[in-house]
Amino acid sequence: MSDSRRLRIAVQKSGRLSKDSIELLNAIGIKLNIRDRLLIAHSTNEDIDLLRVRDDDIPGLVMDGVVDMGFIGENELEEKMLERAAAGKPADYEVLRRMDYGGCRLSIAVPNEMDYANIETLQGKKVATTYPFLLERYFKEQNVNAQAVMLTGSVEVAPRAGVADAICDLVSTGATLEANGLVEKDVIFRSKAVLIKRTGEMPAAKRELLERLVPRIDGVMQAKE
Ligand code: ATP
Ligand code: ZN
Repeated sequence: MSDSRRLRIAVQKSGRLSKDSIELLNAIGIKLNIRDRLLIAHSTNEDIDLLRVRDDDIPGLVMDGVVDMGFIGENELEEKMLERAAAGKPADYEVLRRMDYGGCRLSIAVPNEMDYANIETLQGKKVATTYPFLLERYFKEQNVNAQAVMLTGSVEVAPRAGVADAICDLVSTGATLEANGLVEKDVIFRSKAVLIKRTGEMPAAKRELLERLVPRIDGVMQAKE
């Protein structure tokens, strides 16, 4: 384990949240020495270490107290929270700030040719998704008896492949759906990136550092408005 006096922040290594998260850390004055292949990046001017991981791992790292903070999409955070709560694992965290990037929606989409009236059309059907807990919660709220089929990738080809009748996937422009002969029907979750923090005790120096960072984030976000 590395030095527990240094504030540990988890960011997505490479993907849709990486660039904006790193840019934000730079904008609040944290100098980072990032080397592409390395998991850890040290700040050269603050007691901060960056942990660069897959976004799927970030909620668990925060909830297990392995890192102090993390930048993560609300969709992934909420899914992992539900998954861990169902497995009886600790699922606590605190949202420090909602960011102005990473916007997307988790939507149900169906093949063009499906005669879709409303969510009840999916009664008894299979829906492919990477977010089975969010989807099943939605089905329950809507009193629909449908089955979530978990796929970690290529969700949009599932109906054509005969694996599912419909999908529930992240959408921003809708171009991917259209290219696969699918139409967006119901938005089940709207998401942005958030900065989260672990719960529990923290050494005073670390807490003070964290308390200095958050107002700087507010400053950067206000300047962009
Ligand atoms: P990793 O390799 O880290 O697991 P990934 O493929 O799961 O990456 P990305 O596609 O980089 O993840 O998306 C990360 C997050 O970015 C999503 O969980 C979501 O919160 C956000 N996001 C914003 N716009 C979109 C979009 N159009 N499609 C998918 N995710 C989006
Ligand atoms: Zn991921």
